[in-house]
Formats: sequence, C-alpha cells, structure tokens
Amino acid sequence: MRVHVVLFTADLRVHDHPPLRAALGAADAVVPLFVRDTGIAAAGFVAPNREAFLADCLRDLDTNLRGRGGRLVVRSGAVAEEVAKVVAESGASAVHLSGDVSGYAHRREDRLRAALEGTGCEVVVHDGVVTRVAPGAVTPAGKDHFAVFTPYHRKWAEQHTREVAGAPCKVTVPDGVGSEPLPERAAVRGVSPALAEGGERAGRARLAAWLRSGIGRYGDQHDDMAGDATSRLSPDLHFGTVSPAEAVHRARAASGPGAEAFVRQLAWRDFHRQVLAARPAAAHDDYRTKNDRWRSERSAGEEIEAWREGRTGYPVVDAGMRQLRHEGWMHNRARLLTASFLAKTLYVDWRIGARHFLHLLVDGDIANNQMNWQWMAGTGTDSRPNRVLNPVTQGKRYDPSGAYVRRWVPELAGIAGSGVHEPWRLSAKERAAYDYPEPLLELSEGLARFRRARDLR
Ligand code: FAD
Repeated sequence: MRVHVVLFTADLRVHDHPPLRAALGAADAVVPLFVRDTGIAAAGFVAPNREAFLADCLRDLDTNLRGRGGRLVVRSGAVAEEVAKVVAESGASAVHLSGDVSGYAHRREDRLRAALEGTGCEVVVHDGVVTRVAPGAVTPAGKDHFAVFTPYHRKWAEQHTREVAGAPCKVTVPDGVGSEPLPERAAVRGVSPALAEGGERAGRARLAAWLRSGIGRYGDQHDDMAGDATSRLSPDLHFGTVSPAEAVHRARAASGPGAEAFVRQLAWRDFHRQVLAARPAAAHDDYRTKNDRWRSERSAGEEIEAWREGRTGYPVVDAGMRQLRHEGWMHNRARLLTASFLAKTLYVDWRIGARHFLHLLVDGDIANNQMNWQWMAGTGTDSRPNRVLNPVTQGKRYDPSGAYVRRWVPELAGIAGSGVHEPWRLSAKERAAYDYPEPLLELSEGLARFRRARDLR
C-alpha cells in the first residue's frame, strides 16, 4: 500500500488544500499529521490566545477528517524528528506540506529534508497555499522582491488565481499510526475573555457572512473604528482555516465596491510575506535603518507599561490597547495609532511593541506583525517613514462619535460626542468624576524628540 504523509502547518483546513489533494491522488492512504512544535515554544512564540485558537482548529480539522473516514494524527516534539517517526511507522514514500516564508519555516523544511535523507521518502513542498501569490513569483527586474507596495499590487493583481480545490470526499488513514489526544482550548490559561472561536467551520461561516453582508461597505467604512466593518478573517488566514485563494475568488465573485478594496488588503498580506521571505532578518532588524537610538525598557519602562495597560491618557490609544487585551485582536486603525504612539511619540523601540502584540494577537504573525510595525516605525517599506499619527485628530476622524473609545474605556463613557478624545479639556471639577490618567506627555514634546532623533528640520 502506498502511503503519503500530509504535514499540516498554517493550512488547517480540508477545503482548497493542494497538499492533501496531491497526496490523496497519488497514494492509497494518507497520514494527516500535525506536530505541536516544541521549537516554537523555545523560540518564545507561543501565546495563550493562539494556543486556544489552535486547539479549536485542530479539533475541527479532526472532525472534518473523521467525517470523511479519516482522522488527524497529533504529535509533539521537534517537527523533523516527529515526521521522520511517522514516516518510519507508516512506511510513507512522500511528505507533502505547504511552503511558508519565515526563516523559521525555511529551517524547518531544511531539517525535514535532512531527517528524511536516505529513507527514500521525498519532501514535496506546495507553494501558493498560505498565500495567493507565492513569494518570489513576481519580482521587479533584477531584484529578488518588491520593496514598494503599489507596483507589487499591480503585478499581484495580474496573476492568475489557481482553481480552488473542493474538500475531498474520502480520506483513508492507515492503521497503526498513533496520535496524542487533541489539545483542549479549556486547558489554556491566560486567554483573552472575548477570543473568537477557531476552526474551519467557524472560519468559513465568517467568510460567508462577510461576503453576504459585510464586504459591500468595506470600501467606505473599513476605517470606522466603532463600526467594526472589517472582515475579522485575520486569524483564519493566519491559521489557514480560510484559503487566501478561495477568499480572493469568492470576494471577486461578490463584486461590488468593497470587493477590490478587500482583495487589495489580501495583497498587503502577500506583500509583507515576499519581503520577509527575501529578507528574513527583517523579523528582528530594521529593514531600512534610520540609525535610531530607541528608548528601551530601561529608559522608558513606566511609559511602556502604561501603553501596554491602556493607561497613556490618550483615549483612542488606550481603547485600542484594551481591545487587544480583551479580544486578542485589534482594529487595523487602532494598530496603526497605537504603534505610531509607541514608536514615534514615545520613541520606543518598535521590537518592544511588536513583542507585546505577538504575545496577545490571535492573528499574531511574524510577517504581518513585524513588517507592519516596521512600516509604522519608519524603518520598513513606508515611503513616508517620518509620518507621526496624532491620536487626537485620528481619533476624531476615525471615531467621530467617540463610540469606540466609550466601548473600551468605560471610565469616559459619560463624556458626550468627540469630546471623549480630549478628556483633559474638561474642567477640573468635571475631570474629577473620571478615574482616567493625565496624558503621559504632550504630543508636541514627543514630536520634537522624534524630529531631533531623526535629524529632521
Ligand atoms: P481586513 O481589513 O478585513 O483585511 C482582510 C485581510 O487582509 C486581513 O485579515 C489580513 O490578512 C490582510 N490585511 C489587512 N491589512 C493588512 C496589512 N496592513 N498588512 C498585511 N495584511 C493585511 N495582521 C495580521 O494578520 N497579523 C499581525 O500580527 C498583524 N500585526 C499588525 C501590527 C501592526 C502594528 C499593524 C499596523 C497592522 C498589523 N496587521 C497584522 C495588519 C492588520 O491590522 C490586520 O491584518 C487586520 O487589522 C485584521 O483585521 P481584518 O481581518 O478584519 O482585516
């Protein structure tokens, strides 16, 4: 009997899964395998929200495979070693997996090839599964990646989107390959109270609801912080419970004014991935250094803690930071504002902010997180690296009624209208009614420090 292994990584679904389809097409039986990678914990990348969401995803994947006659095999350990054990136990002649972009993913692939060398088992990497367009598939003349989004997007939009593969009807798993019990969401400690449900079923339901009744207003309203008018598909895309190729196909079929705006955001996702694939060091080093001498935990510890806690005295910044803690997710506009506040107004090392985001974000993702942080810190691909977002004017613009702030900073709920963005303008008597801190610093002070540091006239 010919057996192939399918190693699931950031593609936890049965719909539109080219490695699974390929294995089923070539073998009599497959081992659908997920390895709980102890190396990720050792690299400090484990976060309770993602652990909990992952537990949902694995349970749902197992259910979906069982509905087709199969099951999920779960192991824990170093990925290459665990795969090699399963290959030996099942006599598999190939291991299929989706290509991924981070330095970590590349090292994992190298180790896998090394572990299987001489066993007669080949490693088959399928590109264009975790992204719509694989890194390196489009490049500018003479360069290995696009450093500017607009020309990248032009090329990206011209690329053919591969056909979406349906879910298989039948999955046959060989006997005798044991599995650990599935992890339990309830066993994970420190999870955000309002964390979304994970899994392919929940993800596909979110996608369907979004296409039915959300995408139409996306073009106009994606920046409306209180309106919450974005797809919230980022965790599904991160864990691969929704396929980016399928999302593009179905969004385009939905057409309407919001569809292209939404598809453009998916291009941003691929854009950051092709940057990171070409420059893996950008996960921790400046992509384009500005020779910053950032403030650190030692020099700005209390301010950093106030930022983490959502107690900076700037309501829209605090609202975003509290949404992050409560949901394990934050609105994109709030991510921009809170990142600008830390990196530019407080002039704190972007890596400190990126680490905090990664600790809490359910969609926390090396490519999107680090490259967006760098974009906002002005060390990344932004063509205006010295722009500083003013949290008061941004708050008034993107939360004009103040509803977003009132939702997340309940101390200020009694302040009417957009006055909630400047509580310090209230009289001392009015202020006394609110248990809310004074601003950490004057915005002009932060701006002047930043301009000095960057040597701007
Ligand atoms: P929608 O607006 O509905 O967009 C659809 C999808 O497009 C998203 O799910 C996401 O996959 C992609 N997308 C949207 N905006 C971006 C963007 N700027 N860059 C890359 N892809 C994008 N996104 C993550 O997925 N993981 C992260 O760790 C992450 N960290 C961020 C850190 C900072 C400082 C900033 C400014 C942005 C970060 N983003 C990150 C990007 C963006 O904020 C989120 O993808 C988005 O808010 C998710 O909400 P949504 O699914 O409703 O997005």
